[in-house]
Amino acid sequence: MIEWSELRVNASRLQRCLEELSVFGRPVGGTFADGITRVAFSEADLASRRYVIELMRAARLDTWIDAAGNIIGHRKGRDTASKPIVFGSHIDSVPCGGNFDGQLGCMASIELIRILNEHDIWTHHPLEVAVWSNEEDGMTGSRAVLGELSRKALDHTVNGVRVADGLRRIGGDPDRLNEACRARGSIESYLELHIEQGSVLESARVSIGVVDGIVSIDAYEVDIHGFQNHAGTTSMRERRNALLAAAKIIQAVETEVTRFPGPQVGTVGHLDVFPNARNVVPGWVKHSVELRELSEDTLHRMGEAIRLRVQEIATETRTEIAFSQIEHNAPALAAPDIQQHIEAAASGLGLQTMRLTSGAGHDAQMLSKLGPMGMIFVPSVDGISHSPKELSTWNDCSNGANVLLHTVLRLDRAR
Ligand SMILES: [Zn+2]
Repeated sequence: MIEWSELRVNASRLQRCLEELSVFGRPVGGTFADGITRVAFSEADLASRRYVIELMRAARLDTWIDAAGNIIGHRKGRDTASKPIVFGSHIDSVPCGGNFDGQLGCMASIELIRILNEHDIWTHHPLEVAVWSNEEDGMTGSRAVLGELSRKALDHTVNGVRVADGLRRIGGDPDRLNEACRARGSIESYLELHIEQGSVLESARVSIGVVDGIVSIDAYEVDIHGFQNHAGTTSMRERRNALLAAAKIIQAVETEVTRFPGPQVGTVGHLDVFPNARNVVPGWVKHSVELRELSEDTLHRMGEAIRLRVQEIATETRTEIAFSQIEHNAPALAAPDIQQHIEAAASGLGLQTMRLTSGAGHDAQMLSKLGPMGMIFVPSVDGISHSPKELSTWNDCSNGANVLLHTVLRLDRAR
């Protein structure tokens, strides 16, 4: 029997599966490099799900679709009373997305099972591969598992399909979501391998990222009332230009967010300008401010600093500005001991690691409420993601899959 530490995933089989998966949603006449459009509940999503279910059954996983449309593959453990170690990701994509986001984690999870089968290794804990439904537009599947899928979320439309109808289409049942719900504490741990989608690892030339947490997000709405007037006859001195105030706020967000060193980010990404005409001084602007940072405390302080600046800008521009918080998403912290297990697994494989914070949302942030969570990142070439140009080298992909494999085995022994 092979020594546990010698176990490796089959890198060429992992690559082949990712390539096979990439045909679902590929533009007509395109190649792997053209990426995919595999929006949740679309025909491409359905076809890719059938492919994945086949792979999971071939890997002798007891496979089913839960009421939230998640594909779950269960492998029994030696200790039947113990909680499952769950790992997986998603296979839906954004429109014109790439071949690695979510998909690497799913294909590596199935590959891990195949390797254990081939070496007849049986873990103490049951293992579960999870392919979460509709990650990209609302994290439907992982949210439902927590019992946090609202009526409003079910009515939300994804590419023209109501989420509730979409769930029926993929084999779920929105009227029985409670059956997909899992109790807090019911899983041993959750692991997700994912591409970084940024350039931190590439710049540092490190092959494995150990995620310390997924950022907290605060969203604000800024409502600016100036005075709409003629762009030819209103002197500069007389103007109460709502768009000028918005421009100053955009600059203030930049200044306040970069005031201290750190990975925190702030974005003004959406503006409504009224009346939005070339020859009219804008009378009204509504725009977004979104701030992301792991520490809720730092996030709150950034928001308050911007609020102070907004008050000054209102005075400077003689406008009235309402600055209101409309959303707060708590951060999801990775469990410290799982981070250590990932580091030990990587080091056993001769791979360098660094800790980093995920600025993007992942199913893992939902699962962190069910049990201890850990995430493994691999480098994204040029930091590009949500694009057909999204790329991770096959070597980095198999490194990540090996770290996932060894982390699962370590967690199984440790707990
Ligand atoms: Zn993803």
